Amino acid sequence: MEKRDELYAGKAKSVYTTDDADRLIMLFRDDTSAFDGKKKEALARKGAVNNQFNAAIMEKLKAAGIPCHFEKMLSANESLVKKLDMIPVECVVRNVSAGSICRRLGVEEGLELNPPTFEFFLKNDDLGDPMVNDYHIRSFGWATDDQVAQMKALTFQVNDVLKQLFLDGGMLLVDYKLEFGVFNGEVLLGDEFSPDGCRLWDKETREKLDKDRFRQGLGGVVEAYEEVGRRLGIAFNYE
Ligand code: ADP
Ligand code: UDP
Repeated sequence: MEKRDELYAGKAKSVYTTDDADRLIMLFRDDTSAFDGKKKEALARKGAVNNQFNAAIMEKLKAAGIPCHFEKMLSANESLVKKLDMIPVECVVRNVSAGSICRRLGVEEGLELNPPTFEFFLKNDDLGDPMVNDYHIRSFGWATDDQVAQMKALTFQVNDVLKQLFLDGGMLLVDYKLEFGVFNGEVLLGDEFSPDGCRLWDKETREKLDKDRFRQGLGGVVEAYEEVGRRLGIAFNYE
């Protein structure tokens, strides 16, 4: 697979075209950002850790029958994916209250949400990724009714698979963000699943093992991601 032009450089990943018009290479960089890009830092090893973490999770999701863009890892920090027409919304499921829902609704962190709740956010850094609903998505033509239904159903299916996977490693999957896109008319899970885009707490101590360590300046960010990987049996390679 030949890597060609940089198509897009986001806050944490760069995406390249290849000699196959339907495939892209995703390069996971060490760059880390929070607060819509206002806090930024490069954290050694993070690109490699997230690439390999994402690959392991995507393989689990594929094995559970969830359609994913992920094809294979190409190097320590690069993966080959199907090129999707991205739907410009973020799908968030929350099992436990944390982050923006606490600020928005004035609820304390750590409440179990039963049933888990779902939110859509528009991907727009300039606007601070505002929360949107199904009607906005349809009225502005970001996705069809059927695609909205599929994104919700798939995001909850991911919850069933990953809640148990992390629980088996002694962790609580507090919340997470997914992005979807369309390939040959089919809705596929795109982007990544890594500790950059979810909250994971140690089940007993509730120690934070995700990007909140960066947001809150707690330190040991990549070390925490590596600990999560270790608990899931992922062996990282930094070459
Ligand atoms: P951001 O754009 O939020 O700063 P990243 O740095 O993670 O995020 O950049 C990755 C970009 O690639 C995102 O905009 C994401 O929507 C997009 N993307 C992810 N997977 C695919 C795919 N399979 N096809 C096309 N674009 C993708
Ligand atoms: N999230 C993300 N990218 C975003 C916004 C949120 O990956 O642009 C993830 C975040 O890491 C958390 C979940 O989505 O796991 C819910 O985030 P929240 O709405 O609480 O926002 P935050 O307070 O984290 O900015």
